[in-house]
Amino acid sequence: MHSTTLADGTPIPTLGQGTWKMGERGADRRAEAGTLRAGLDLGMTLIDTAEMYADGGSEEVVAEAIEGRRDEVFLVSKAYPQNASRSLLPQACERSLKRLRTDVIDLYLLHWRGNVPLAETAEAMEALKQQGKIRHWGVSNLDVSDLEELGDDLSRCMTDQVLYNLESRGVEFDLLPFCQQQLMPVMAYSPLGQAGALLEHPVLRRVAKRQGSTPAQVALAWTLRNPGVIAIPKASSAAHLRENWDAHLMVLTPEDLTELDSAFPPPSRKQSLEML
Ligand code: NDP
Repeated sequence: MHSTTLADGTPIPTLGQGTWKMGERGADRRAEAGTLRAGLDLGMTLIDTAEMYADGGSEEVVAEAIEGRRDEVFLVSKAYPQNASRSLLPQACERSLKRLRTDVIDLYLLHWRGNVPLAETAEAMEALKQQGKIRHWGVSNLDVSDLEELGDDLSRCMTDQVLYNLESRGVEFDLLPFCQQQLMPVMAYSPLGQAGALLEHPVLRRVAKRQGSTPAQVALAWTLRNPGVIAIPKASSAAHLRENWDAHLMVLTPEDLTELDSAFPPPSRKQSLEML
């Protein structure tokens, strides 16, 4: 399994499992937990969840999946911006810990920016770290100007989780280089474009055919081509899991990359950060 490191040297896997939309239907929960466990068996030991997903239901599915295997897992969860204050963040974190049935979250993220000042969120995150409730903290959906606003706290912020896939490359212009300079890995969410039009694109299909792989695998391998990028595709079938796992070992050729660049051009100027 490929891994990268957080700025403090902690190793973190570069391929993880997303869980948005899991936990929404009670009847599906057991199967969803089973899929996540199968992902752990393959080596996809980073799991990304959030208090928002299924109103905490996703965290409960994750708890079932990691039962008895907590030590294998790099657990990521996120707090709503309205909960990111000095007084509310500890309560939100405690609720997440309870649903996750664990005593510590490896990486706790601010889900997106709201009205609470970033400095206050950073202070609340640091307090949770001191109390041993979380090991690291980071942010999501923050653009370069927001990261700069963190000032001294930036060195304690361990990641920015952002939309990044072939169709959404805006972050390559400034955010990715900025984070690389800070030794901060970026987490790419929706790396498969939520299995929409992206996976039907003729150029992606052509590259996949040449590679003897699937379009999803090419999309994922492309996202992971740069060191310092972590991808968290969500999969609910064993076949998709297996494909995603195999994709992290794929190497795209210069010819593949050139073709993909012409179909999905890199940004030539600053674009405002896209988010879902
Ligand atoms: P993804 O790009 O990961 O796409 C998920 C879709 O792709 C599902 O429909 C899945 O189908 C399908 N899929 C998975 N593997 C394959 C494959 N090998 N071939 C074909 N289809 C495949 O989208 P998400 O939006 O779920 O993003 C991933 C994760 O990122 C989320 O689950 C969440 O954890 C996180 N996220 C964070 C956000 C933030 O604001 N911080 C916003 C959005 C997502 P199936 O389930 O049937 O296998």
